[in-house]
Amino acid sequence: MSTGKTDRIVIVGGGISGVASAVSLASAGVPVVLLESGKLGGGATSLAQGWLHSGGAFAEASSEMARLCLRSLQQTEAFCPQCLESPRSGMYYLTSDIQTPTNALKKAWGEAGLPWKEVGRNQLLAAIPELNPELVQKAYLLPDRAFRPDVLTETLAATARNAGVEIRTGVGVERVTSEDGQATGVVTLQGEEIAASHVILSAASLPSLLEHPRTFLPDQPEHTPAAATTELVSVRPNLTQIPFVVVDRHQFNHIPHIGTSIFHSGVWRTAKTTSGLTKSEGDFESVWNTVQEFFPGFEREACLECHEWTGTSIEALGADQIEPGRCPWPTVVNHGAEGGVRNLWSLYPGRATLWPVLADLIREEILAKMDRGPLKAAPAPWNSQGN
Ligand SMILES: Cc1cc2nc3c(=O)[nH]c(=O)nc-3n(C[C@H](O)[C@H](O)[C@H](O)COP(=O)(O)OP(=O)(O)OC[C@H]3O[C@@H](n4cnc5c(N)ncnc54)[C@H](O)[C@@H]3O)c2cc1C
Repeated sequence: MSTGKTDRIVIVGGGISGVASAVSLASAGVPVVLLESGKLGGGATSLAQGWLHSGGAFAEASSEMARLCLRSLQQTEAFCPQCLESPRSGMYYLTSDIQTPTNALKKAWGEAGLPWKEVGRNQLLAAIPELNPELVQKAYLLPDRAFRPDVLTETLAATARNAGVEIRTGVGVERVTSEDGQATGVVTLQGEEIAASHVILSAASLPSLLEHPRTFLPDQPEHTPAAATTELVSVRPNLTQIPFVVVDRHQFNHIPHIGTSIFHSGVWRTAKTTSGLTKSEGDFESVWNTVQEFFPGFEREACLECHEWTGTSIEALGADQIEPGRCPWPTVVNHGAEGGVRNLWSLYPGRATLWPVLADLIREEILAKMDRGPLKAAPAPWNSQGN
C-alpha cells in the first residue's frame, strides 16, 4: 500500500471498539483499513468477564450512563443474539446489609428507565440454591446478562468485511505520521507507510501509547492515558447459571458461562502500565474469600479447574476518569481539538457493552469533519429499523 492523497481511514486496533467503528464508518460509505498487531479481539476484549450491562450498576452514579448501557444491551441482543450465553435474560441485584438504602437504588433505576422487579427470598434461593441465605437482604431482577465478547467481535468483523473493510491482522503500528499538524497515516512495525485521511487509535491495550505517548503520538499536548486493572477468578464446575451482583459489597459479581463461573471482586485500580503487571495475590484471596462466604458449601480444593487472571485495558485519558468502582464514560478524543494533531482520534470505550455508543460517536465526528459534501449515509446495522 502506498502513501499519497486518500480518503482512507486507518483504524489501529481490532478489539471490539475498532471493529465496531470499522462497521459504522464503512456502512456510511467510507473506505476503512483496520490494522491489528495480534489477532482480532485478543486484547482487553478477550479478558472481559462477559457482563452485558443493563446499567443497573451505574444508575446511582449516572442516569445517563445507565441509559446508554440499556440501549447498548438491547442493540447487542438484536444485532448479535448468538453472542448471548443463555436464552434466559436477567441478573439478580442483591443487597447484603440491612442499612443499604434500597429506596435510592430503586429511584435511580426508575429515573434511568431500567425495568426492575423485586424478587422474594424463596424465588432467589430456588434459582441459586447454593447461596448463603443469611447474606441476602433484598433481591431485584434486572435485564443484564452474560455474553461472549469474542463471538460479538467475530460477528462485527464479518459485518465489517462484508461492508468492504480491509482487515489486516499481525500488523502492528509503530507510530502515527503527521505533516503541518495533520495526521497523514501510520508506519507499521514492518516499516510500511500507510496513508490516511484520518487515523483512529482504538488500541486500548497499546503499551507504547501508555509508556511512550510522546513517541507514538507526535506533537501532542501533555496528557496521560490511564489504565484500569482488576482480578478475576473462574471455577469449574460452574456454581450457578444465573448472574448476580452484590451492590453493597463493591459490586462483587458472578457471570456464568457455559460450564464456568467467573467471579469478580468488583474492585478496580488504576495502573501505569499494561505490561509486566504483578498479580495482586491479596486481591485474589479476597475474591476467593467472598466466593466462600456467599457459597459456604463450595470447596476450593475440590474445584476441578480454577483460573485466576489480571486484566488491564487503557480506558481513559486521565486517572480521575477511572477511580475504582466508577465506570468511565465511553470517550472519543479528537486530538486536533486539544491543540494537537488534526484528524487523529482515540477511542476509550469504558465497557465492552458500550460498543455501539462509541462506534456511533466516532462515525458522527468523522462524517462531520469530512470535506466531501454531505454523505447519504446508511445507518449502522444496529441502528437500522427493527433493531
Ligand atoms: C479484566 C477485565 C474485565 C472486563 N469485563 C467487562 C465486562 O464484563 N463487561 C464489559 O462491558 N466490559 C468489561 N471490561 C471492559 C472491556 O473489556 C473493554 O472496555 C473493551 O474490551 C476494550 O475494547 P477495545 O477494543 O477498546 O480494546 P482492546 O480489546 O484491548 O483492543 C485493542 C486492540 O489493539 C491492538 N493493538 C495494540 N497495540 C497495537 C498496535 N501498535 N498496532 C496495532 N494493533 C495494536 C491489540 O492487540 C488489541 O487487539 C473488562 C475489562 C477488563 C480489563
